[in-house]
Amino acid sequence: MLGMRHKTRSFYVRDLGFGGDHPIVVQSMTNTDTHDLAATLAQIRALDQAGAQLVRLAVPDKAAIPFLEKLLDQSPVPLVADIHFDYRLALAAIACGVDGVRINPGNIGGLDRFRQVIKACLEKDTPMRIGVNSGSVEKKLLEKYGGPTPEAMVESLCQHVRVCEEAGYGKLVLSVKASSVPEMVRANRLAAQELDYPLHLGVTEAGGVRMGTIKSAVGIGALLVDGIGDTLRVSLSGDPLNELPVAYDILKASGRLKQGVNIIACPTCGRTQIDLVPLLEAVEERTRHIQRPLNIAVMGCAVNGPGEAREADIGIAGGKGMGLIFRKGEIVARASEDQLLASFDQHLQQLLMEDSES
Ligand code: SF4
Repeated sequence: MLGMRHKTRSFYVRDLGFGGDHPIVVQSMTNTDTHDLAATLAQIRALDQAGAQLVRLAVPDKAAIPFLEKLLDQSPVPLVADIHFDYRLALAAIACGVDGVRINPGNIGGLDRFRQVIKACLEKDTPMRIGVNSGSVEKKLLEKYGGPTPEAMVESLCQHVRVCEEAGYGKLVLSVKASSVPEMVRANRLAAQELDYPLHLGVTEAGGVRMGTIKSAVGIGALLVDGIGDTLRVSLSGDPLNELPVAYDILKASGRLKQGVNIIACPTCGRTQIDLVPLLEAVEERTRHIQRPLNIAVMGCAVNGPGEAREADIGIAGGKGMGLIFRKGEIVARASEDQLLASFDQHLQQLLMEDSES
């Protein structure tokens, strides 16, 4: 059963709502050189087109700040500056009006510097994401827990949050990341028990498209089903554009995104009577643009297909040289194999029209 969404505090980044009852925000990160304005802007725009609602970018040095400023002027989505080690870069990014900063308080150079970043965020009302990972847990906690366990990571996170709260700052997004999926899941469950700030979900160093997708689906998906998570990034090595379809499919599969098409396809078996894969691809292609929630089934045989996919709003089931179109398990048309997609289109249009009339 789908868990109730874990209650978190909410705020806006530009006009993008975070936490609370706001939809889960899908984000990504550029992999271009931030000093290359044209390439970075092109990638931000492409990520926006692909569905990224927020984009993070590395600010590796002082020379990147003027580029960040220009990107902020032109970016269609909020930009978050990713800062490591040098708190002055965080201060400079905040001063130039960045939409958010992401720091790891464990590697920013001590409490005093962390407090300076918090003060700057307070002054400019800038949101901050605090990240903790297995490499950033303080020595004392490593000794206490015998290593960077989920408990150690969450205690480290709680300590950082306390520093923010003592300064009267609360526009926080939190992340606890691990490359081990079970540890990442456990750490986030613990964090959700302890804290009520929006949680950012992700598996670090998840890997290439195949393994990264699997790890992200398992880790992020498990938490989403529990009701944990307010924003997510699927990290895949290589082109970040690959991340977005995976992120949305994880949201759909975990029941957290009701919009758009959900395709149900049978795995095929000895009863399959139609060339299912090209048919499935054709259905995916022609229904990708649909925004409303719609379950579509593509099944390999007429014997079990309509019954197995009874919950589908509309579906196709293959027969010998022909096929069936069905709606909610009821057969509404039969067509020869070469007319099957045309018939499907016709019934799909009818369904969408009925819907817009009701
Ligand atoms: S729908 Fe038919 S072809 Fe597909 S798995 Fe079920 S029995 Fe096999």
